[in-house]
Amino acid sequence: MQIDLEQLCADRGLRITEQRRVIARVLSESEDHPDVELLHQRASQVDPKISIATVYRTVRLFEEAGILDRHDFGDGRARYEPAPEAHHDHLIDVETGKVVEFVDPELEALQRQIAEKLGYRLVDHRMELYGVRLDRED
Ligand SMILES: [Zn+2]
Repeated sequence: MQIDLEQLCADRGLRITEQRRVIARVLSESEDHPDVELLHQRASQVDPKISIATVYRTVRLFEEAGILDRHDFGDGRARYEPAPEAHHDHLIDVETGKVVEFVDPELEALQRQIAEKLGYRLVDHRMELYGVRLDRED
């Protein structure tokens, strides 16, 4: 399901300039967890005047407002996605960088149980799986 970042900005009372609107729209339409460079490329196609510095500032602003999630999938680049309404985890294809989203109720339950065994109530977690395709050709 696509998340409307523009609407979330409005809900949070964030001042939305035209350039921020473009960046918000590009983020909302991206399903591949882009990094700032890729976001800048896409935003530039809509408005060539948008600088990479503006993209950096805007993603930081959105992140601080809690409407954008930042991920580090092990390649040292920060990657972004609109904060999902429903939790999901990620599997990263280490050869292509492709990111696969998944939800596993058993895994969620197991994590809660582990936290409880250690004397905690789980409030959040990050789960990233890194893999190569089983059916890839060598
Ligand atoms: Zn995701």
